[in-house]
Amino acid sequence: MMSQFSSHSFAGQKALIRVDFNVPLDDAYNITDDTRMRATIPTIQKIIKNGGSVILMSHLGRPKYGPTPKYSLIHIVGHLSKLLSLEVQFANDCIGEEAVNKAAALQPGQVLLLENLRFYKEEEKGDEAFAQKLSKLGDVYVNDAFGTAHRAHASTAVIAKFFAPGSKMFGLVMNAEVASAEKVLHGSEKPFTAIIGGAKVSDKILIIENLLDRATDIIIGGGMAYTFFKAQGGTIGTSICEDDRMPLALEILAKAKAKGVNIHLPVDNIITTEFSNTTARKNCESMSIPDGWMGLDIGEATRAKFAAVIESSKTILWNGPMGVFEMENYQAGTKAVAVAVAAATAKGAFSLVGGGDSVAAVNIFGFTDKVSYVSTGGGAMLEYFEGKVLPGIAAITA
Ligand code: AMP
Repeated sequence: MMSQFSSHSFAGQKALIRVDFNVPLDDAYNITDDTRMRATIPTIQKIIKNGGSVILMSHLGRPKYGPTPKYSLIHIVGHLSKLLSLEVQFANDCIGEEAVNKAAALQPGQVLLLENLRFYKEEEKGDEAFAQKLSKLGDVYVNDAFGTAHRAHASTAVIAKFFAPGSKMFGLVMNAEVASAEKVLHGSEKPFTAIIGGAKVSDKILIIENLLDRATDIIIGGGMAYTFFKAQGGTIGTSICEDDRMPLALEILAKAKAKGVNIHLPVDNIITTEFSNTTARKNCESMSIPDGWMGLDIGEATRAKFAAVIESSKTILWNGPMGVFEMENYQAGTKAVAVAVAAATAKGAFSLVGGGDSVAAVNIFGFTDKVSYVSTGGGAMLEYFEGKVLPGIAAITA
């Protein structure tokens, strides 16, 4: 099933592709980051090369239902045409007469983009009749929108039931995302180190629980570490903390011990008196942060300790920054981890960076090409690592 796309000949077929063109736009409708568009270009080009035509469907933003000019996909037609070096056609509605006629008139090599799916509430509701209308536009369904694979929407999952097994498949982005995630979760060479950071324990609890059965080492950094320190009797000053999650933090430590998983917590931190880039900073041991001070990054000893664990790993999963990397003075910890992940990758480890802010950090620091794989799907990748079955994947593989 996984390689079906590569071996399928699309000659004479109309391929209906669910893409993730939910790109950020500025006030003048310029695309500020086209990563998701560029990611799916090879999928479109392969179909065109085969002699097929392409109908693209996507959502953009979170519009109230009904046509909303601000969220029209017409804003991206020009850039998409440039990326593909051809003139992309546009239908002002994703279903209805115009879409049907334009899809029917498509010639091999031509590309049609449909208007925002989320102008219909039926999309997010997973409405069958709506999914069926969409399905009629193409001969083959290709899902290349990993970023929405965790949603059971009409175009991401429900639509698949209207296509025969040989006529529904993943595109190249989906294939790469799933293959990388599977490699980490099920085929990981040991030692397997998971680096989990970010603000809150509550956001990362399910992923840690799932990784306790797979990883040899789990590094915990970022704001979530302070809940672990306080739970163990440390003082954390005004550092971010979820008091109600302290029992859970202790439970994770106990479970890890029972399963033989090494948990690595910061031994020191960069602390300051305000959530600010300009207040004075100092290095401080983790369990004894003074009153009125807060930890905003991992400390120097911790960076060295984490780097040693990372550099001796064969498989690495990284989700979440080690500190408030948006502020220049608290970037060093996250940067040190990026350097270590790149070094391990250069020595042959497989490294996957997935989920929101760590992806942003890797991009900002210029490490995108120095890790094995950077996921384009934030929430979807997180749910995958939580061990959940993603509806967009199940709809095709089940
Ligand atoms: P997440 O989206 O859960 O990966 O969290 C990312 C956010 O966590 C970033 O915006 C960081 O600024 C924030 N963060 C990381 N470390 C800390 C910390 N020590 N204190 C407060 N916020 C933090």
